[in-house]
Amino acid sequence: MNDASFPPILPTYARAPLSFERGEGAWLIERDGRRFLDLTSGIGVNALGHAHPALVATLTEQAGKLWHTSNLFNIPAQEALAAALVEHSFADTVFFTNSGTEALELAVKMTRRYWHQAGAPERHTILAFEGAFHGRSMAAISAAGSAKLTEGFGPLLPGFLHLPFGDHDALDAALDDSVAAVIVEPIQGEGGIRPLPDACLKGLRAACDRTGALLIFDEVQCGMGRTGKLFAHEWAGVTPDIMMIAKGIGGGFPLGATLATARAAQAMTAGTHGTTYGGNPLACAVGTKVMEIITDPAFLGHVARKGATLRQKLEGLAAAHPQVIESVRGTGLMLGLKCKVPNTDLVAAARDQHLLTVPAADNVVRLLPPLTITKDELAEAVTRLDRAAGILA
Ligand SMILES: *Cc1c(COP(=O)(O)O)cnc(C)c1O
Repeated sequence: MNDASFPPILPTYARAPLSFERGEGAWLIERDGRRFLDLTSGIGVNALGHAHPALVATLTEQAGKLWHTSNLFNIPAQEALAAALVEHSFADTVFFTNSGTEALELAVKMTRRYWHQAGAPERHTILAFEGAFHGRSMAAISAAGSAKLTEGFGPLLPGFLHLPFGDHDALDAALDDSVAAVIVEPIQGEGGIRPLPDACLKGLRAACDRTGALLIFDEVQCGMGRTGKLFAHEWAGVTPDIMMIAKGIGGGFPLGATLATARAAQAMTAGTHGTTYGGNPLACAVGTKVMEIITDPAFLGHVARKGATLRQKLEGLAAAHPQVIESVRGTGLMLGLKCKVPNTDLVAAARDQHLLTVPAADNVVRLLPPLTITKDELAEAVTRLDRAAGILA
């Protein structure tokens, strides 16, 4: 007999009581017809909004031709997407996954294999930063290290050392030539929209060059145009050796990737890694279309300008509601409101105004609108946030 008192869906999420049936651009439509302005983008996933006509057409066309063949064969859509990613990034090579977590797994495996091939398998420590988020697998929670993610799931994967966010002295002390790699989000997402200053990214690159450690950027949330550049690290003018992307690249279809330089990837020879679904024709057809749209310099320019306008409006909102909002953080359309009230109260109050936002750590409310959102929609979002904050004050 089933235990009817236990929910049929494993209750690991505290869900909002909303069931959406349709989406149109920056709007989600509930089963009962109510329209919600969506500043979640499915947590930074629906970069081009809901039901983007070009993505619907691409996915539909591919669905009528071929869904899956496995990586036993060449996959032309995968080759096209890899070529686009290589053309527009530091990377020489790409491995496709279904999620950011899987991309993290490969980044860790690639790092270990790199040092194994270099004849220094004992060099396996990866430095990571407090507040980081890299996914939910054992390697990913071990990499992030927070009690919230790891409690009760030990023993964790060894080989990670966690440093306080922004502590240069701790980094200098830890980053010697026993370190295999450093992993960092250029802007922490789940951690509360905490950008690593450009000077720190530059310093990290220099320190890794000095010791030979690989530099890994997790751009799963901050990449794919979210900050107004294709990748967030471009603002600092430095490049990593390995980078994970996911979320925005699929525009809502599950897709992730690990990008790497030829040097970092050299030990990953045939048979060392694989995936059944990763890089399938459906995901890669959509990803190629997403890349085509987002890499247009005019598109990225729009994101940067809309982000600057939104940020300015949010600063005004913070000034108008000092008891509710302490400060505004972030870049482009990856913005956060550091709250004085519990962040979940502001998320709930905004939801009452039919505006959807995402809570993050550090008592922050995240705003991750579709990159295609219009200026009028952003103004409407700020009006609704203003009403929500007014009710809480
Ligand atoms: C969401 C996220 C991940 C994990 O991606 P999944 O697709 O959920 O596995 C990893 N890193 C960062 C920075 C993320 O925001």
